[in-house]
Amino acid sequence: MEQTETWAVVVAAGSGSRFGGPKHALLLGGVPLWSIARDRLLAGGVDGVVVVGDVEGGVPGGRRRQDSVSNGLAVVPDCAQWILVHDAARPVASADLVGRVISRLQEGDMDGVVPAVPTRDTMKQVDGDLVIATVDRAALVAVQTPQGFGAAALRRAHKLVGVDVTDDSQMIELSGGAVVIIPGEPENVKVTFPGDLARITGAL
Ligand code: C5P
Repeated sequence: MEQTETWAVVVAAGSGSRFGGPKHALLLGGVPLWSIARDRLLAGGVDGVVVVGDVEGGVPGGRRRQDSVSNGLAVVPDCAQWILVHDAARPVASADLVGRVISRLQEGDMDGVVPAVPTRDTMKQVDGDLVIATVDRAALVAVQTPQGFGAAALRRAHKLVGVDVTDDSQMIELSGGAVVIIPGEPENVKVTFPGDLARITGAL
């Protein structure tokens, strides 16, 4: 098989409005979240990492998460055939998970690979505080990062899609690409709200 390179973009920018402040400087066990995330990507098999955010060696973030990813993609070298996108806010994703994303990507039959876990709770569709329906939970999964993509498909999706999205796989879906899931990790929670950091302390 020809030699290929896998790179990763770790997004660590943004104002952290739901958290109540920027997350780039948050520490877990005395170590910044972005740095833990970067080291696990490297341990899992990526060849290089670009960090986006106001951190040492980082490139500037953008207004939306997807703008921050675009800024990171701009400095990922062209030799990268596969690109993983990961939230610094998910520092406990394991090196094993990173490796499984890369292995699935290398099968080459899709444009994107996302880790997913079953939804635990009963899911309701609502309009304000009114319950409209109970959604079939069996058909739903919750997705995580790192998400992996063919570099060309990801770059193309970022050029084509301007609407607000909440992850990169949605961009691939909107630009007509195929995305598959692999098993995620229940402990791979995102630090979104105050209190989440306490939930993952001890998970290192
Ligand atoms: O705000 P949210 O929890 O969705 O952020 C997910 C990830 O995206 C975090 O790691 C955050 O640092 C990053 N982000 C970013 N640029 C933004 C918004 C969020 O890099 N403008």
